[in-house]
Amino acid sequence: MKVPLLDLKSQYETIRAEILPVMQDLFESQYFILGPHVAKLEQEIGAYCQCPYAVGVSSGTDALLISLMAAGIGPGDEVITTPYTFFATIGTIVRVGATPIFVDIRKDTYNIDPALLRDRITNKTKAIIPVHLYGQCAAMDEIMTIARKHSLFVIEDAAQAIGAEYKNQRAGSMGDFGCFSFFPSKNLGAFGDGGIVTTRSKEHYDLLKTLRVHGSNPKYVNKIVGGNFRLDALQAAVVSVKLKYLDTWTEKRQMNAKLYRELFRKQGLDEIVKLPQEIENRHIYNQFVILAPEKRDELKAHLADSGIGTEVYYPIPMHLQACFNSLGYRKGDLPEAEDAASRTLAIPVYPELSNDQQAYVVEKIKEFYV
Ligand SMILES: *Cc1c(COP(=O)(O)O)cnc(C)c1O
Repeated sequence: MKVPLLDLKSQYETIRAEILPVMQDLFESQYFILGPHVAKLEQEIGAYCQCPYAVGVSSGTDALLISLMAAGIGPGDEVITTPYTFFATIGTIVRVGATPIFVDIRKDTYNIDPALLRDRITNKTKAIIPVHLYGQCAAMDEIMTIARKHSLFVIEDAAQAIGAEYKNQRAGSMGDFGCFSFFPSKNLGAFGDGGIVTTRSKEHYDLLKTLRVHGSNPKYVNKIVGGNFRLDALQAAVVSVKLKYLDTWTEKRQMNAKLYRELFRKQGLDEIVKLPQEIENRHIYNQFVILAPEKRDELKAHLADSGIGTEVYYPIPMHLQACFNSLGYRKGDLPEAEDAASRTLAIPVYPELSNDQQAYVVEKIKEFYV
């Protein structure tokens, strides 16, 4: 049996008939950048994420970058975030000239630990970037309380969390900016790169729209410097079609997560392998990440030999990346992030996964440990 980590071809089968005529119209129109498809998607994503405004951009990375620029963050500023995330969260902070300040993660959600936040706030702190990792929101009440008290911006990295909820509030609706990615492997993926920023502020919305087109407003008149952060019409059109299916796909992911819990329990594996904990509802399971007791890399190799795709998100925590050496962090500084980096493994949870495939995955994990 083969079980890939993700199967986008089988997802495409289910939407092909709907996507192709939209693509055909778009090709006939020869209108490729921004335009009505992007404006329509911005409306739809805004509504989906409980935000009055959304601005389509070129990627999830650029969603973070443009948000940092809109918040006016630059040299001399500090931005507090998690070391246990995709590189873009930190790369963008450094690209605007600011300094990332790392705070360790919680064991249960792998998200930034708000109890450790307060101690890292200085008079240079300008923003907090919580990451809603794997599709589960960070502890936003605590984070927002601290941020409001110290007048800090909150930029939600919701690249893995579209539709995730924290106390009935959607990811991207709680902070000042919500950053989403349409990278193909995210729950709502385009046919290439794309992203979007959500906001509740009209002022931020206007600024984001100006920054997206080099800072020009009106055209060819620049009071500020932005970038080319435009979203393609083609990507917006694809995402718009897929958005109608997102809740169904999310429910499938949640059902798969539930079945894994039963299967691990039945095999007596739930005592050996730690399963993801659902602390904040609604978890959208961009990834189903288990914590191996030991020999994570050998388990990954064993599963690969059995035709099962897995991935490590992420093997090197950001404070230990060579390019951030000058920040002065050492091994041992952020023990929870380091422990997670050495023991977590994402196993397939995509919507089209069959029950038999899941049973096979759990059987092969059992074969390794028992
Ligand atoms: C995917 C991802 C990004 C970057 O999104 P791109 O669209 O690939 O640029 C940023 N942060 C996190 C947590 C991600 O998972």
